[in-house]
Amino acid sequence: MGTSLQMTWQKNLLLKRRKKPNTSPPLGLKNLGNTCYLNSVLQCLSYTPPLANYCLNNHHSSHCPQSGTGNCPFCLLEKRIIRSLTLDFSIDAPSKILSCVNIFSPHFRYGRQEDAHEFLRFVIDACHNACLKINKNSSIVRGIFGGKLRSQVKCCDCGAESNKTDDIMDISLDLFQVTSVKDAMQRYFQQEVLNGTNKYHCDNCEKLVVAKKQLAILKAPNVLVIQLKRFEGIHGGKIDRAIAFEEGLLLSNYMCKESQDPCPQYNLYGTIVHSGYSPDSGHYYAYIKDAMGRWYCCNDSFVSISNLQEVVSEKVYILFFARSNQRPATNQITLRYDWSGTSALQWP
Ligand SMILES: [Zn+2]
Ligand SMILES: [Zn+2]
Repeated sequence: MGTSLQMTWQKNLLLKRRKKPNTSPPLGLKNLGNTCYLNSVLQCLSYTPPLANYCLNNHHSSHCPQSGTGNCPFCLLEKRIIRSLTLDFSIDAPSKILSCVNIFSPHFRYGRQEDAHEFLRFVIDACHNACLKINKNSSIVRGIFGGKLRSQVKCCDCGAESNKTDDIMDISLDLFQVTSVKDAMQRYFQQEVLNGTNKYHCDNCEKLVVAKKQLAILKAPNVLVIQLKRFEGIHGGKIDRAIAFEEGLLLSNYMCKESQDPCPQYNLYGTIVHSGYSPDSGHYYAYIKDAMGRWYCCNDSFVSISNLQEVVSEKVYILFFARSNQRPATNQITLRYDWSGTSALQWP
């Protein structure tokens, strides 16, 4: 029996684990020297409801053979998230996770500024691998962030289709000539004609042909992370213009016809903003929505109350969305209702 994935905050669990009242703001994270990238990512992960619920239950560490050795990235993250959600202070130093930063990625160095998105990817991958060490067929990390993209190429001569499916943990969007996240999504999923020097080799026709290529979502993730590629401007500079986005996001236009999940809906719960000119300089800070639905700006140790208007006015770099409607049951995922009536998802 798999463990269930709780998409909404388990407030009773939070109350039980937390000594401070529910009205207190998120814990500020001290900057230990160029660690704003790490602080911002940790804040957003701590306020990812299904991950927070899982950590507050000690689900990972209670099954992990490496628990207590200090060598497991997920055990480290679990401890960090529990501290963030339960400590009585207003500021904490993420020294433990920072001193072990090379457990997530060997090339990360204490004291050096890094790209927040790169760090997030390493944390997610490292924790995913830690899950697979316990059970090679089950990963909470994939259950939370994982989705599937299908790439279809169709030969314009014979009509033969070739399909390829890729597992994804996030989506990175190009910003060239784009003014909103919606635009960028549309471009990402729009049909592309493979022609000229870009012709496609059709196995059926046994020659290079003009073909149409299209990406579509085969499995929508429970938590959708979107990176805006601000650091890939044509001249190598940062794309610093405002990119509009909204609190709600629909994936209906980008789903595969075969997916049986026609309209995944999402709500924003976190963002990471970068100010400055390159990913490894400048400054990162985060916005998160707490269990009560209040927005906060988490700028290292400085935490201040915010609101949606302020959140959407920022030039964001990374967006975190959680599904607000449930992924339909398939043979891989079964639905379960817990005692409180909150729906939960299961994975094998
Ligand atoms: Zn572990
Ligand atoms: Zn063909």
